[in-house]
Amino acid sequence: MSRAEAVIDLGALRHNVALLAAEAPRAATMAVVKADGYGHGALEVAKAALEAGATWLGACSTAEALNLRVAGIRAPMLAWLDAPEEDLAAGIAADVDMSVASLSDLRRVEEAAALSGSRPRIHLKVDTGLSRNGCQPKEWPELVQAAKKHEVVAVWSHLACADDIGHPSIDLQAKRFDDAYDVAREAGLHPMRHIANSAALLTRPDLHHDLVRPGIAIYGLNPVPTDHDLRPVMTFKACVALTKRIPAGESVSYGMTWTAQQDTTLALVPAGYADGVPRALSGRMEVLLGGERRPVVGRVCMDQIVVNCGDDEIQEGAEVILFGPGTKGEPTAREWAELTGTIDYEIVTGMYRPRVRRVF
Ligand code: PLP
Repeated sequence: MSRAEAVIDLGALRHNVALLAAEAPRAATMAVVKADGYGHGALEVAKAALEAGATWLGACSTAEALNLRVAGIRAPMLAWLDAPEEDLAAGIAADVDMSVASLSDLRRVEEAAALSGSRPRIHLKVDTGLSRNGCQPKEWPELVQAAKKHEVVAVWSHLACADDIGHPSIDLQAKRFDDAYDVAREAGLHPMRHIANSAALLTRPDLHHDLVRPGIAIYGLNPVPTDHDLRPVMTFKACVALTKRIPAGESVSYGMTWTAQQDTTLALVPAGYADGVPRALSGRMEVLLGGERRPVVGRVCMDQIVVNCGDDEIQEGAEVILFGPGTKGEPTAREWAELTGTIDYEIVTGMYRPRVRRVF
């Protein structure tokens, strides 16, 4: 085994996508593969998701979508947030659907379409309450009128609190979304509608509309407390690089924050904060090593952590699971998130780094 590895279980991913597609049987499923597939590998995830029943892919930038096109993925794709210098013309020529949230977005897409010589496919985005990217309802009728000469594939939006079941903003956003859709219909358009992320897919069938956009749930992490059989896709592993015995009274790692109370066997694991192990886990994390959960002692360093193995004999080269599905008793990404005050999205996406090898 190399240093740290993110082992990606594409069988679990296919299972999750099939489950989610079955949960929204009247809608098409867009697998969201932005940020290199939430740290899991966008290309491999995209292929597996399409095999399992997704028919669309969602990316953040046109560049992310183009990477998939260049790799031979032909499925419909939407890119929703580009920096001004992004090569939209290349995206339009490669049949990447464009999100348009303002008149200036529309102008950029029109100029890029003229350059590329292709017709753009547009998803008009309305801001229904998230106050991020999206057209304010007041400006929406003007945007619809300006866009209607193009192929408007969809009207879409994004929810702010879908993971907080019953939050009043969900119904408010749904109402504003319906109103925006009515404006598009009154302008003579017949677009699709999409607003549901994973949480809405799992809890609000009335918001499935024509297409659902699950991200985190395809990776097996459920953002809502339902009992859907989602299977975590990523296991983060390393192996023991060195074992040593230290006498009672010796301390471990920078700052000497932990001191052995008796003679102790330590296992050095070559994974640190440069590999995605949050330094904030110092003194609070455990790993699965030799079939047991064992505490990591002292500070998490840039390249390594130190595991307290007590009096056990541990082989150099032994497998260490830092987090995984939890089925063998190992910590989960959710556990890391809770310990560090974040969400599991950030933990798995944090594995999007060159030093962590991905194994499929
Ligand atoms: N749609 C959009 C526009 C997004 O930005 C995201 C991710 O943040 C998703 C869908 C998927 O959301 P989730 O991962 O919560 O399912």
